[in-house]
Amino acid sequence: MEKKEFKAESKRLLDMMINSIYTHNEIFLRELISNASDATDKLYYNAMQSGNAGLSREDLAIHVQPDKENRILTISDKGCGMTKDELENNLGTIAKSGSLAFKQEHDLGSDVDIIGQFGVGFYSAFMVAKKIVVVSKSTADDKAYRWESDGADGYTIEEASRDENGTTITLYIKDNTEDENYDEFLETYSLQNLIKKYSDYIRYPITMDMERSRDWEEGEETDGKEYATYIETETINSMVPVWKKTKAELGEKEYEEFYKNKFGDYEDPARCIHQNVEGTTTYTALMFIPARAPFNYYSKDYEKGLQLYSNGVMIMDKCADLLPDYFSFVKGLVDSPDLSLNISREMLQHDRQLKSIAAALEKKIKSELKNMLKNDRDNYEKVFKNFGLQLKFGIYSSYGMKKDLLADLLLYYSSSEKKMVTLDEYVDRMKESQKYIYYACGESTAKLDMLPQTEMLRDKGYEILYLTDDIDEFTLKSMQNYKEKEFRSVSDADLDVEDESEKEEIKKASEDNKDLFDFMKEHLGDSVKEVRLSNRLKSHPVCLTSDGGISLEMEKVLNSMPNNEEKIKASRVLEINANHPIFAALTQAYAEDKDKAAKLTDVLFAQASLIEGIAIDDPVAYANAVCSLISDK
Ligand code: ADP
Repeated sequence: MEKKEFKAESKRLLDMMINSIYTHNEIFLRELISNASDATDKLYYNAMQSGNAGLSREDLAIHVQPDKENRILTISDKGCGMTKDELENNLGTIAKSGSLAFKQEHDLGSDVDIIGQFGVGFYSAFMVAKKIVVVSKSTADDKAYRWESDGADGYTIEEASRDENGTTITLYIKDNTEDENYDEFLETYSLQNLIKKYSDYIRYPITMDMERSRDWEEGEETDGKEYATYIETETINSMVPVWKKTKAELGEKEYEEFYKNKFGDYEDPARCIHQNVEGTTTYTALMFIPARAPFNYYSKDYEKGLQLYSNGVMIMDKCADLLPDYFSFVKGLVDSPDLSLNISREMLQHDRQLKSIAAALEKKIKSELKNMLKNDRDNYEKVFKNFGLQLKFGIYSSYGMKKDLLADLLLYYSSSEKKMVTLDEYVDRMKESQKYIYYACGESTAKLDMLPQTEMLRDKGYEILYLTDDIDEFTLKSMQNYKEKEFRSVSDADLDVEDESEKEEIKKASEDNKDLFDFMKEHLGDSVKEVRLSNRLKSHPVCLTSDGGISLEMEKVLNSMPNNEEKIKASRVLEINANHPIFAALTQAYAEDKDKAAKLTDVLFAQASLIEGIAIDDPVAYANAVCSLISDK
């Protein structure tokens, strides 16, 4: 019989498959089953159209059968089949998906990539088979045909016999080599797993004959064997994807079980989100917010993404393009009939449908979180504890551009409420005359409560947000304001809390003591930018604040980062409380004993630094200065 050559382009792809050492060669099964499902779909819809309502999906099983002894795997369907021409055109030429053309255009590196990214349809079977026989009978033809190929030398087509329409694909599985074990494609157990993994939601039964054993019945011929064996045909896939059921059909338990099974969590999710959208893009999304951050969530190993399905067939396990980084904690899947099965990762990135799905998902996740915040606060606070950092980072890394989306999801600890509050709640409670949203940064809320800078503000009845994450101040700075209220650190120079007479008082006292402050500034040199009278201190003698864009807290954070060779320095301002007894001592020393005044200055500056959690340059000198002041020597 005449052998026909494959078209040049197909031949190249074929060579690639035959010689493939692609580790996920198992995807061939997904490809063949999905072809079978498509062919069955065509038949099913034609039957429906022509009024043959007697046909049910159950009758149209796709049968997968290994034959270990002969190293054969067959996949047969009762679909529309292929005519002789179709066999020639569909299997003799590379699929229409145009994967190879795309690869050439974009020069996508190694051959392994193309397999992983495209799936490459029918040809992928050559990754595991040395010979393939396809017998098919089309609904449009009385005759059946047999297509056969061992890859390299081309293919043959001849007439064959087959009673019913449909296609049977027989794979002669490759022999094992030193590096490759193909036996798994002949084991019922591993085939079952593959079907579950990739094709669980195919809408037709995927069946396999299994050998079962039973006890002998009385009078049966035992042939010396302990058990009788018989064959049972089992359906392997669950067919109806959970997400194709309606919300009413699904109880909370079912969602939770599905989540735990599918995403390997042992805890119920904090929230299940089920969304059906029909319109310009049609999709179903099933998303979950985990109750706990995965152990590797804040490490480089964590891979974000949603599973992507096209009509129940999995295309990609973790489609990163579906989730922005700030929602990377969301788990779940998206199923859309608008996506083609053989779309590549590269093409997906530019896919309009996918982009519009991603945009809709972002909105949905936001609204669910907001809803949770409103109606299920305790749970929301737990979610925020786990993933809030990611939201804060989202605002910061977008330079505040994502503020509208994310700012009202933030929670901070409030000095007056003694619990986590939203920015909205803060703004609602603001005094009429209050211009700013005040915040303080530090290691813990307990420490912040003791910070000299917060004392006066709290005393005057202002609420302060206590920021304890490294990212916090950067996030607020990139937002600049919330509902037109600017953020202001308790360490900022101008807090705008004094009334006119207080302002006058401070101004006058500052002028009266100008010489002293100049002296102190000169003595401290470059360590400080300024020494001045404080309006924010009540019972404490001194505090350190900063002037300019970089706060003391930001200085700490930036300098603690690795690879940050050039140390960043906030410009420090030493503030003194004129109502504190130490101030009287200071003025007296300045008038009578400049050496003592200098020592006092050193000690006060060191103290202010220590309160801020900043290490002092010379602890020994500090200790000696304190001792000398105490002993008056
Ligand atoms: P793709 O599925 O991307 O089109 P394939 O190489 O997997 O590429 O298949 C090529 C074509 O062969 C299919 O589009 C289909 O027309 C036909 N085909 C493959 N398998 C079957 C089958 N089991 N029954 C009927 N037609 C099939």
